[in-house]
Amino acid sequence: MMSGVLQRSMLLLSLCFILAPSAIADATSSQVTILKAARLIDGTGAPALSPAMVRVEGDRIIEVGSRLRIPAGARLIDLGDATLLPGLIDLHTHLTGDERVHWEDALTKSTPPRDALWGARNARITLLAGFTTCRDMGPAWPYVDVELRRAIDEGAVPGPRMLVAGAYVSSTGGAGDARQFSTYVDVPAVRNLADGANEVTKAVRTNLKNGADFIKILVTGAVLSKGISPGAQQYSDEEIRAAVVEAHRWGKQVAAHAHGAEGIKAAIRAGVRTVDHGSYLDDEAVSLLLHANRQVFYVPTLYTYEAIDRSDAGNPIPESERQRARDIRAIGYAGFKRALAAGLPIGFGTDAQVIPHGQNAKEFAIRVKLGEAPMAAIVSATSLNAEIIGWQDRVGSIIPKKLADIIAVSGDPLRDITALERVRFVMKDGVVYREDLR
Ligand SMILES: [Zn+2]
Repeated sequence: MMSGVLQRSMLLLSLCFILAPSAIADATSSQVTILKAARLIDGTGAPALSPAMVRVEGDRIIEVGSRLRIPAGARLIDLGDATLLPGLIDLHTHLTGDERVHWEDALTKSTPPRDALWGARNARITLLAGFTTCRDMGPAWPYVDVELRRAIDEGAVPGPRMLVAGAYVSSTGGAGDARQFSTYVDVPAVRNLADGANEVTKAVRTNLKNGADFIKILVTGAVLSKGISPGAQQYSDEEIRAAVVEAHRWGKQVAAHAHGAEGIKAAIRAGVRTVDHGSYLDDEAVSLLLHANRQVFYVPTLYTYEAIDRSDAGNPIPESERQRARDIRAIGYAGFKRALAAGLPIGFGTDAQVIPHGQNAKEFAIRVKLGEAPMAAIVSATSLNAEIIGWQDRVGSIIPKKLADIIAVSGDPLRDITALERVRFVMKDGVVYREDLR
């Protein structure tokens, strides 16, 4: 039985116009493409430009303006009453695996190749929804994400450019301990548990050796877990610091899954790059983040609280965990409002897989409903997210010399933020993957 979500996403794919081989040839041969639309939001927070034209050569943005010369032989793509935006960035996805299988069951009900194939499907849906960059927060089977990233980079499957975690680091019995079987059952392929500073250091080294781009560590319990509660800190301050020290030696960042206030604060003090979810963000945590002065960022995932409890047949989440989400929802919203009121820069993430893939942009509407300005929400998912992952020289804004990751939506997202849920044009690296606006 196919879920409604799956049927909808397959319909979406069949409506899309995918230009793979010829477009790839264009991108490498420096063909000039001129994009034209009613307006452009460049991702930096500057007011929208109207009308707007962008000149793309190969994989780069060359020129942006209201009226550009169209050179002979250039390809003109006129998108009409649309808004051009930078490709969106999601800092918290789980692209590998089948979203209908609960992650704790994946080790008994799935296999690494199956999860990789579903990963290819999810990556394509995510790209076509306008997300051209994803920081992926970890697979059920270690390093399946590394192979998905590689397949995308090699052009074997379409998907966002990815930063991957490899095997997230968790304490025994903590939120990331998926091996909750009988004591007598083991899954030898999965070795992501680390206890004590020495084991955490070794886990960081093993991940980076095996191709991870950053370290994901679970510092508190989770909503979608049977283990220690989301409010509880599961790693000691010393263990979290060990992860950060070792990752920094390799020039890499640490992303911390954290719900409870004490875990959030321990992670900020240890110098992680992001505190993800951040449900119980309190005044002290906000002031620590302000003092961290754009070195540590809060990345909420607000649509999850609602999506976890959705009633479609494909949702594998059991009642006990839905109840955890209901308990924590108002607290998570209050944390976000606290961060907004303090003027904190807030990163953008969704936890896609917990929410259906391709619905990443639903996070925008919740943030705006909770009081964020539409432009600030767009900056969060573009230039701010690029700054957080250290890719501000490559992606996150429509500025000359950046990679040509450009999307378009019909209408104006500053008037109706849900326009971002209806992406109609997607270019990544100068290659057009979706073009149903013309
Ligand atoms: Zn997650």
